[in-house]
Amino acid sequence: MKDLAFLIDVDNTLIDNDKVKADLVERIEGVVGKQHGTAFWRIYEDVRRDLDYVDLPQTLSRFKSRYPDERGFPMLAAMVLFYPFESCLFPAAPDVVAHLKSMGAVAILSDGDPVFQPAKIARAGLYDAVDGKVLVYPHKEDHLQDVQRRVPARRYVVIDDKPNVLSVMRRRLKGKGTSVHVCQGKYALASQPHDYPDPDIQVQQISELLDYKTF
Ligand SMILES: [Mg+2]
Repeated sequence: MKDLAFLIDVDNTLIDNDKVKADLVERIEGVVGKQHGTAFWRIYEDVRRDLDYVDLPQTLSRFKSRYPDERGFPMLAAMVLFYPFESCLFPAAPDVVAHLKSMGAVAILSDGDPVFQPAKIARAGLYDAVDGKVLVYPHKEDHLQDVQRRVPARRYVVIDDKPNVLSVMRRRLKGKGTSVHVCQGKYALASQPHDYPDPDIQVQQISELLDYKTF
């Protein structure tokens, strides 16, 4: 058993998802027009509300059912499914993963759908970066027993952009967890700090973790 394991989130922690979304909004509108572009993102939010996580294949499927005559659909689907996530990693994200591996086990721990999210992680080069230790759940904080079985360690450092998720995971790890809040993206700013206990460590950018020699 390793002494230390790092459980790193993906969206807005290693991948700049706000940048991906802004880029996709523009590209999708270019292919299917403003009206159907807006409809796509409305369906995206409907799916998120229904499933409680983002599911792009499901979003595409519902869009196709609702707008069967949209000629741009093949381009839309290709654009979404083959998005080059490797070009949207935050600067130094791969270096941070390599740096943390010098201190302990490193796993990706992400929320998401069971198909597209793992593919996105692989596409971004993160599967290789963590030697295949990729864990994806609809709500990761509800699967910490399974996480500890799959990545055994005496202590865990959880790294995430969402203060509420960090707070729950730290509590459920019962003294074995250290929380690292990375203040990147919309969720980092959406929650007032006083809503949750202070994280053990807070950084503005993931690259700042390169300066940490111990946890
Ligand atoms: Mg995130």
